[in-house]
Amino acid sequence: MVQCTMAETNELLRALPSMDELSRAPWAQDFSALLGWDFVKKALARALDEARADAALLAGLGRAEASALVEARSRDFLSRKTSSSFSPVINATGVIIHTNLGRAPLAPEAARAAEAAARGYGSLEYSPETGARSRRDLHVEWLICHLTGAEAALVVNNNAAAVLLALSALAAGREAIVSNGELVEIGDGFRVPDILAFSGARMVAVGCTNSTRASDYERAIGENTAALLKVHPSNFRVEGFGASASREELAKIAASRGIAFIEDLGSGLLCPLGQSFARDEPLVSDCVKAGASVVTFSGDKLLGGPQIGVAAGAKALIEKMRRHQLARALRVDKMTLAAFEATLRMYAAGRSGEIPVIAMIEADPNELKKKAANLCRALRKIAREASGALPPRGGIAEMEIETVETQDAIGGGAFATDRLSGFGVAIRPAAMSAENLARAFRAARPPVIPTIRGERVILHMRALLDGDAREIARAFALMLRGESGAK
Ligand SMILES: *Cc1c(COP(=O)(O)O)cnc(C)c1O
Repeated sequence: MVQCTMAETNELLRALPSMDELSRAPWAQDFSALLGWDFVKKALARALDEARADAALLAGLGRAEASALVEARSRDFLSRKTSSSFSPVINATGVIIHTNLGRAPLAPEAARAAEAAARGYGSLEYSPETGARSRRDLHVEWLICHLTGAEAALVVNNNAAAVLLALSALAAGREAIVSNGELVEIGDGFRVPDILAFSGARMVAVGCTNSTRASDYERAIGENTAALLKVHPSNFRVEGFGASASREELAKIAASRGIAFIEDLGSGLLCPLGQSFARDEPLVSDCVKAGASVVTFSGDKLLGGPQIGVAAGAKALIEKMRRHQLARALRVDKMTLAAFEATLRMYAAGRSGEIPVIAMIEADPNELKKKAANLCRALRKIAREASGALPPRGGIAEMEIETVETQDAIGGGAFATDRLSGFGVAIRPAAMSAENLARAFRAARPPVIPTIRGERVILHMRALLDGDAREIARAFALMLRGESGAK
């Protein structure tokens, strides 16, 4: 703390520019065109307040210097607000359904459908044929039924919403029986006991963490039981001794006792995957066939579409869910619906292999290796040129760059312990830490998100989209020249 006398303090404050002077500056006018005058005014006032409150900051500064300081602080703050903080990034992490990076990237035709829906009016809840009002989920219901074998279906905001709606509409005020082994938390606060409590259903947990049998459910059914609930444990797995009731057994019990069998499947696989570890992953159609009354699943996990939640199953139960008050609160917007319809149509047309998530999971390791080799070559060339053209920059360009094998992941809580072997480019910087190099990649425009393995930064090929490798090379070249990647 610098102690100032009253006179000194007054002197310092007089050195500060006035609000009026700041407002007239051309740069302030420029920001006003982007952010609006009200916001710019608030930012200037804040910078002035901060300077006033911090006498140490101003100590020894002349009027011009104090003015420059306030200006620099205001401009820095304002320029950070001019670009969207939610911007495209390049996913070089090798995690396909990366929850923090927005889960599934859409197929181009799904993205186009969303854009078309956004731009104008549409037949969202209207039938041009009859001129009458219609339902928004009719656009996708027939596709979901066709692809899963279900009688009826509805869509809501996400799978958490679908589970909540199913339990609220079908089991509120009554009991839902669930295995202790399935009272899981699925990332970011989706906890089965909490969702059950919130829905108003009373949870009856049966069996043990590692073993629950059909007879455990059967014994727990009473007067007030509304449903059996089965939850895909997703990111959790029991190793060693374990047993669980099959969905066929549960369906049979539920049917014979006249109660619902709700299955929260989570990922919502519509077509079998080639990976051996995915052999036991049920398709939505398997659950429907086994007799689940309602199956719920996400649109933006293994299905590869937009964020949406689907409930598919028996007509009477889906109808009951549709009429519930919550359905209105959880309904899906037109852009999402359009993107989802386009994605489902790709499945119907037998073109699921073109959906980015599926293509990334099924990617040929040889193709990934070739991509990695190409990027490796490009980055080496850039590094060589940078070290030749410039005076030594602390050896930054003398890094080791090579193609390496990687362990990639599906992500989104699916197959949490299984790995896909892939390829990437490893960079070991000579004169900086791997953390700092990774930070430089993240500072590129668009940001490149790599992983770090020991001393090396790894750029995984698996989740790169068309054009991403070129962007990475461009960002790398700018980094070595000490420039930011801003276009
Ligand atoms: C992912 C998941 C959810 C939540 O789905 P969102 O679409 O993220 O809301 C619920 N249940 C299971 C079993 C899941 O795997």
